[in-house]
Amino acid sequence: MKVLVIGGGGREHALAWKLAQSPRVSKVFVAPGNPGTATESKCENVSIAATNIAELLAFAGREQIDLTVVGPEAPLVLGIVDSFRDAGLPIFGPSKQAAQLEGSKAFSKDFLARHRIPTAMYRVFTEAAPAIDYVREHGAPIVVKADGLAAGKGVIVAQSVAEAEAAINDMLGGQFGEAGARVVVESFLSGEEASFIVMVDGGNILPMATSQDHKARDSGDTGPNTGGMGAYSPTPVVTPQIADIVMETIIEPTVKGMALDGIPYTGFLYAGLMIDDEGRPSVLEFNCRFGDPETQPIMMRLDSDLVDLLQAGIAGSLDEVQCQWNQQTAIGVVIAAHGYPADVRTGDVIRGLDAIPNNVKVFQAGTRSDGANIVTAGGRVLCVTALGDTVRDAQAAAYAGVKTIDFDGGFYRDDIGWRAAAREKA
Ligand code: ATP
Repeated sequence: MKVLVIGGGGREHALAWKLAQSPRVSKVFVAPGNPGTATESKCENVSIAATNIAELLAFAGREQIDLTVVGPEAPLVLGIVDSFRDAGLPIFGPSKQAAQLEGSKAFSKDFLARHRIPTAMYRVFTEAAPAIDYVREHGAPIVVKADGLAAGKGVIVAQSVAEAEAAINDMLGGQFGEAGARVVVESFLSGEEASFIVMVDGGNILPMATSQDHKARDSGDTGPNTGGMGAYSPTPVVTPQIADIVMETIIEPTVKGMALDGIPYTGFLYAGLMIDDEGRPSVLEFNCRFGDPETQPIMMRLDSDLVDLLQAGIAGSLDEVQCQWNQQTAIGVVIAAHGYPADVRTGDVIRGLDAIPNNVKVFQAGTRSDGANIVTAGGRVLCVTALGDTVRDAQAAAYAGVKTIDFDGGFYRDDIGWRAAAREKA
């Protein structure tokens, strides 16, 4: 069968790599893909942007694609799933309406409140003055979020009232255009974050392996927030008991609530969680797709055929399939480009990709071919991923891979997985 993966980052490289391993798959097209996906067996890049729904639809129809899976949120929020479904093309992902769980923070907060799903207290504002009054009343730390998609930059965890006020003025003043026409102001939650990702077919839920992302740019969880500097799976903070609580108090009510509201959810559903000191999880955010970089370590651990799972997701039979996971730990370390997450420099030649140890997989993201070279083309350039029997073994293998790679301005965190490693020691 022929499969189409939409997107061109590290997440899509990992999905394409995994799909190509299925004996049922003859061809994996990746639109637009990257130089990494171009060199995977069975894979071919198609030069269509992830948000060009009309051309993607025409391509999928022409090639008679049997299964399409969407990586990034933008095409989902634009309604790619509705368009493919209308054309009778099998696709796994949420409808445009359902994708609002990620596409509008006001929608998702109102949904959570209506269905009594644990999340931070909040208010939605369209005018600066009442938002600022609210901040002054509640004090700092406090969190200000642009309603719409802002490429991971629309959330300010303000340490002072002045910082929150500035964020409100910037957002409502047009910093993110329409995405900031409304802001959510919410209370600050403390605890440990985790990513809880499931597949949903409208009613049935199939949990993926647990994982933890590292959002801060620098080691020790310092520096500005990024799209994610690395991730690992499984994460010990989500104990089997906490996973049960997450399913009962968050995931199941969300899937039921969406169905009750007349917008049944299909696709990957990603709950970004804060788990407090007593092990109680709250929702920080929903994403309507797989995480990046969580996908990379999670796909390394998936023993089941991803095609079977995606087809069950489309057919509404996720209750009939099971996920088999490699029991090892997988760690993915992102190597980022000079300037990330602010002004990223591109065009630096990447050296060492041909000397990667056999037990390491490098997923490419912000790269492009330039003659015989692969050069940097975005903020997060590579995700170097490896398995290990222990967290420390996985770290050692991944960092051995990282050290073989070199490009001007490239940098990475040296502590991906530190929380799990600390627990392992204890
Ligand atoms: P993403 O890049 O994952 O899509 P986003 O821009 O949608 O992120 P959120 O995930 O909602 O934004 O928030 C980004 C980060 O800000 C979170 O990972 C968390 O570290 C922090 N954060 C968000 N809300 C809160 C909160 N209520 N309390 C404490 N920290 C928070």
